Amino acid sequence: MSDTTVTPPVTPNANFKPRIFSGIQPSGNLTLGNYLGALKRFAQKQDEGIETIYCLVDMHAITVWQDPEALRRQTREAAAAFIASGVDPSKSILFNQSQVGAHAELAWLFNCTARLGWMNRMTQFKDKAGKNAEKASLGLYAYPALMAADILLYHATMVPVGEDQKQHVELTRDIANKFNHDFGVDFFPEPEPLIEGAATRVMSLRDGSKKMSKSDPSDASRINLTDDADTIAKKFRKARTDAEPLPETVDGLSERPEARNLVNIYAALADMTSAQVVAEFAGKGFGDFKPALADLAVDKLAPISTEMKRLMDDVTEIDRILGKGAEQADAIARPIVEKTYDIMGMVRSR
Ligand code: ATP
Ligand code: MG
Repeated sequence: MSDTTVTPPVTPNANFKPRIFSGIQPSGNLTLGNYLGALKRFAQKQDEGIETIYCLVDMHAITVWQDPEALRRQTREAAAAFIASGVDPSKSILFNQSQVGAHAELAWLFNCTARLGWMNRMTQFKDKAGKNAEKASLGLYAYPALMAADILLYHATMVPVGEDQKQHVELTRDIANKFNHDFGVDFFPEPEPLIEGAATRVMSLRDGSKKMSKSDPSDASRINLTDDADTIAKKFRKARTDAEPLPETVDGLSERPEARNLVNIYAALADMTSAQVVAEFAGKGFGDFKPALADLAVDKLAPISTEMKRLMDDVTEIDRILGKGAEQADAIARPIVEKTYDIMGMVRSR
């Protein structure tokens, strides 16, 4: 018998228990992209037996101007969308970021870890600041360091996000790695982005090269979770497409971004693969496919918007849930930020 012991492979996160963190900005009406890329998967992850922490990142939302009354309503409405999509506040921690001060504190510490060169490569800043970067807020530029703080404040190891947030999670890994290296510790995990499913990047209905976003000025570019059945049908009917029928295989979609987007949306809503959708609709034109897609979307979204409306009738209850979630989040976050100060050499004497 051999006396060699088998050691498990060393991974950066071996010392950390699995924990999921993710967030959504309450910066407008939540969209079908937010639902398929984030909310739907948040609910699935919660039911996989891993600790889940979900946050309405209101401090991210204010990196672009938000009317205070609108921000309050959007935050509560986003909380309602989480719950209506299956996030259960008795199973997941659900709260808004500004109620847990440690997010801002750790973000500052990470502003001193992150390098300007890293920030300059972030595509979201370039997309959002556009040609007028000089007029963008400093917060929009520093956004990724706050996002790293959101995740690492809980020692989260997994971050379910859409494809557009992959670069930010990678930056979070760089920040964790540099912090650990600079201070000779193994204090922060290097979280993995979880980008899964058929619709990890839902595209605008008006422009197949642009991501669907709640902050897009064109309402016709997106399906809002609160849109009624007629509006959903109309937006899909008007969605830009080419004139070809659907192909026999998914390879036939490679040069057809708008068609591919609608197929991916159908697949994600129906819990099918895109290949299965193409097999079902091969040879059919958009005159057939779009109404089928609209029916499916209404079928899946109507119960969510109905439940959101019901929850919004009692904002006191929503605020209570967010307050309780914030207390639970703070109980995890406070010791971690305190330990971070300690590692960095700040005197702690009260
Ligand atoms: P904004 O325009 O204000 O940035 P947004 O629609 O991009 O809004 P975020 O709050 O930035 O939404 O992102 C919340 C979550 O939704 C993230 O996990 C993000 O990856 C995901 N997400 C956003 N847009 C899409 C999309 N079009 N397809 C798939 N996932 C998306
Ligand atoms: Mg976004």
